[in-house]
Parts: sequence; structure tokens; C-alpha cells
Amino acid sequence: MEKIVCPHCGKKFRYEEITNIVSHTDKEMAIVCPYCDLIAEKRLSHGYFVSTKIIEQK
Ligand SMILES: [Zn+2]
Repeated sequence: MEKIVCPHCGKKFRYEEITNIVSHTDKEMAIVCPYCDLIAEKRLSHGYFVSTKIIEQK
């Protein structure tokens, strides 16, 4: 689990790489911001990325 800041809305979220896929190829997969639904980053992955909001605790 890694953290990333969305370049579009500036919010921080977590993303996880899901790699337990039987047949896959290495390709660029989008990490989609859960707040604004835009692509925050593209990374080479064996699987795909799941992003989750970080609940701010104040
Ligand atoms: Zn965003």
C-alpha cells in the first residue's frame, strides 16, 4: 500500500497493486483518483491498481 497525491485535486489517497492475476502482461495501468475520478498517475504493473480514500482523522 502506497500513498500518492492527486495532481488534479491535490488530495492524498492510497493505492494498492493487485497482481494475483493468472494471465497478464506488463503494461501501463492507470491509478485513478477516488476523489475526482481522474488519472493521477500511470505505472507499469503486472496487474492493476485499486485506489482508496484516506479518511482524515482530526
Ligand atoms: Zn483527484
